[in-house]
Amino acid sequence: MSNQLKDKTTEELIVEKHLAALTKGFQSWPTLEHGKMPALGDARWTADLIYSTWVQAQTGSVPKNGLEYKVGNSGGGFDLLDFKFADKAKASTAKPADTSISLNKRSFGKRCDIPLPFYGAGMSYGSISQQVMLSRAKVAKKWGTFTCSGEGGYPDELIPYKDHVITQVATGLFGIREEVIRYAPIVEFKYAQGAKPGLGGHLLGDKSSIAVSKIRESVPWTSLFSPFPFHSVYSIEDHKKHIDWVKTINPEALISVKVSTPNDVDMVAVGSYYAGANIIHLDGSYGGTGAAPQIAKKNIAMPIELAIPKVHKHLVKEGIREEVVLIASGGIRTAHDIAKAIALGADGCVLGTSELVALGCTRCSNCERGRGCPFGLTTTDAQLSQLIQPDRAAEKLDNLYRSIQEQLQEILRDLGLSSIKELRGRVDLLLYKRENQKEKTEGEKN
Ligand code: SF4
Repeated sequence: MSNQLKDKTTEELIVEKHLAALTKGFQSWPTLEHGKMPALGDARWTADLIYSTWVQAQTGSVPKNGLEYKVGNSGGGFDLLDFKFADKAKASTAKPADTSISLNKRSFGKRCDIPLPFYGAGMSYGSISQQVMLSRAKVAKKWGTFTCSGEGGYPDELIPYKDHVITQVATGLFGIREEVIRYAPIVEFKYAQGAKPGLGGHLLGDKSSIAVSKIRESVPWTSLFSPFPFHSVYSIEDHKKHIDWVKTINPEALISVKVSTPNDVDMVAVGSYYAGANIIHLDGSYGGTGAAPQIAKKNIAMPIELAIPKVHKHLVKEGIREEVVLIASGGIRTAHDIAKAIALGADGCVLGTSELVALGCTRCSNCERGRGCPFGLTTTDAQLSQLIQPDRAAEKLDNLYRSIQEQLQEILRDLGLSSIKELRGRVDLLLYKRENQKEKTEGEKN
């Protein structure tokens, strides 16, 4: 045995072996060298979408081997929407379109522009590993955008990236201390999650490790629940008190309000605006990692493609649309989904699952079982977590961001637009594919 091998512990050797195997697999899978894995994916995240996200994370470009990278196969939602591209518009804009958006449109508070019309979703320490959090923070810093802590506190390793980390305050108040509010450029109040509204959050005891429970100020290896409601908020006035509390600690912080999509979500959005929110973040029903129960994902909240135009129109009617930023999440998978959400009326989007897929997620739904994710993503297991190397993972996310930006610029160019802001609310540029199909079939019959 070489001296180098002798110096390593058994644990280091195991991690190294698996890391090598995973890296090799990750690079060869999307080439389709071994064909498509028969059980990979589902109707929303098809095998093609998963493979093509891996290709983008690897190369920074969309796949050239025929994989479908724009839509899934769910038979609904964004998968049935397309753009009405006009040929003559193609040559109309020579320079790349502007993909930046502002996250503060109020007349007060600091300016906050980001170069891409999306940022990273809240995923807590405990639900994901510290290594994944760090990877996301690194790429957010590189692009001058944001990632979000989720409800689980702030590992010290994130502090160097604090200007790019949104602090989430949710119903369990896990890890919320005065200093993490002070760090935050944006504080996100999570009132509900679109994948499981009315159910709150649940971190299984197996994942609530010693390090996680220390930050969450709880007892190690016990399950943690975040209740569904904030027991201190039953009205807009109560919500306003929360915002005042944050502003007392950190007057500079912008406020985001994350809500799920019940029928009266338009009224909730208006109320949040009057309470002082800068960002209204709608979380629709298609999102969530493998930890969110399927029955909740499929049956409770309104799909995001219905909620966005409902809220957008209501804000326009109330005369406050230009003062508030509308952000959509909950199943936004691709650059095309982002562009469609914006055409429906959002200013921008939030990406969560897509980032995990870029880092190797296969959508196997094992996030909450045993030691957690076999790829080191949604786990707090000391050994499995090491399968993610933050610098390399940040490179993959950087590649994904670059690919998404290029695709958005291509969509805008083909629509004859010079900025992503011009796309907002342009439902006239969208095509409902089923109607189109129906018209074609009827035309053929006649
Ligand atoms: S266990 Fe890992 S690979 Fe499987 S769905 Fe969860 S994050 Fe993805």
